[in-house]
Amino acid sequence: MNVFVVNCGSSSIKYQLFDMSNQSVLAKGVMERVGSENASLAHTIDGTKHIRHIKAPNHTEGMAVILKTLVDPEIGVLKSISEIHGVGHRVVHGGEQLTKSSRIDQNLLAIIRQNSQLAPLHNPPNLMGIEAAMTAMPDVPHVAVFDTAFLSTLPPRAFRYAVPEDWYSLQHVRRYGFHGTSHKYVTLKTAEILNKPVDKLNVITAHLGNGCSMTAVQGGRAIDHSMGMTPLEGLVMGTRCGDIDPAVLIYMMKQGASLEEIDNTLNKKSGLLGVSTSSNDMRDLLASADKGDPKAALAVEMFVYRVVKYVGSYFTVLPSVDALVLTGGIGENSLPVRHRICLGLERLGAKIDPARNESLPSGTPGPITTDDSALPVWVVPTNEELMIARDTIAELA
Ligand code: AMP
Repeated sequence: MNVFVVNCGSSSIKYQLFDMSNQSVLAKGVMERVGSENASLAHTIDGTKHIRHIKAPNHTEGMAVILKTLVDPEIGVLKSISEIHGVGHRVVHGGEQLTKSSRIDQNLLAIIRQNSQLAPLHNPPNLMGIEAAMTAMPDVPHVAVFDTAFLSTLPPRAFRYAVPEDWYSLQHVRRYGFHGTSHKYVTLKTAEILNKPVDKLNVITAHLGNGCSMTAVQGGRAIDHSMGMTPLEGLVMGTRCGDIDPAVLIYMMKQGASLEEIDNTLNKKSGLLGVSTSSNDMRDLLASADKGDPKAALAVEMFVYRVVKYVGSYFTVLPSVDALVLTGGIGENSLPVRHRICLGLERLGAKIDPARNESLPSGTPGPITTDDSALPVWVVPTNEELMIARDTIAELA
């Protein structure tokens, strides 16, 4: 069974082709600047990247180029597109109706379209990708895998905001959560690693990348989560502020800031970038902080502090915690940040093992705390594409 996984942004198409008989990646790639005359395709097979400059005036033509590349005599991996047995699509927002991965039909497309108002930057390009792939592969089953689905088990006390009821019932204002596919993958992987049935597993999963989120998982199900109605809430992120007093927005508007300015500032100019004034990239900030840049140092300190504070709060709502699981670009790679998170959690029983933290090979799961640590902290690399491929297969069975 070959499954093609598609993740469409407004000007990009990311893809991976899996052979699900052994869950290996046959090919993967990213097309950038879709919608322009000078798009590029980086197509990787056997670890070798092939760059092509192409024309992709829209997603449909971009998708056609990708499919042609998959059967290219030189850099292709298939004889024919008919060797693709299913297509899994990443869709950001499933809203309240779409709480699990689902086979795509006209009815499902209509609901995804409706949910576009909740995710105006993401669902419309996701839909463009679905339509492009369905046009190119009309006879293959297509499955939508929602970023929100794993978080759909949050109880009302965790997903409701304390605002008038009709904001929820009429305007759908509530916490939905995001990065669900990543949180689900690392939850299942951790159950496997710890050799525990997933329905007995209690963990806190922290996806720390450019976007950051944390989930409290009880018995394998999400019971609380840091992102909110949008991906702006919660942890300090690369360019997003995370938690903030909503009155700050009102105050800034009274000072003359426009709605668009505030939207742009909180999403694109805040977080690590906003505080440091120099970069949204953790590597840069750690290097600058080492050289004595106080703003970079404060940005890193705030990042770690917010993570530690959230872990503390999730400790209070879970009956027990089998492990804190770190993933995402920072969680998987940033040794100093991992170290500092563990130090911040000493009172909750985390005992860092510096040698383990430093010697854990990139891309490999492993503990970074000592064997007698009351709170084990694990690094578990995420794999959202594989999770989408697995969900796709499950839907087709
Ligand atoms: P992601 O969005 O998951 O790709 O994560 C991006 C974040 O991961 C950025 O802040 C990067 O600085 C950080 N990151 C990626 N690789 C490393 C690394 N080797 N060391 C430290 N941070 C890293």
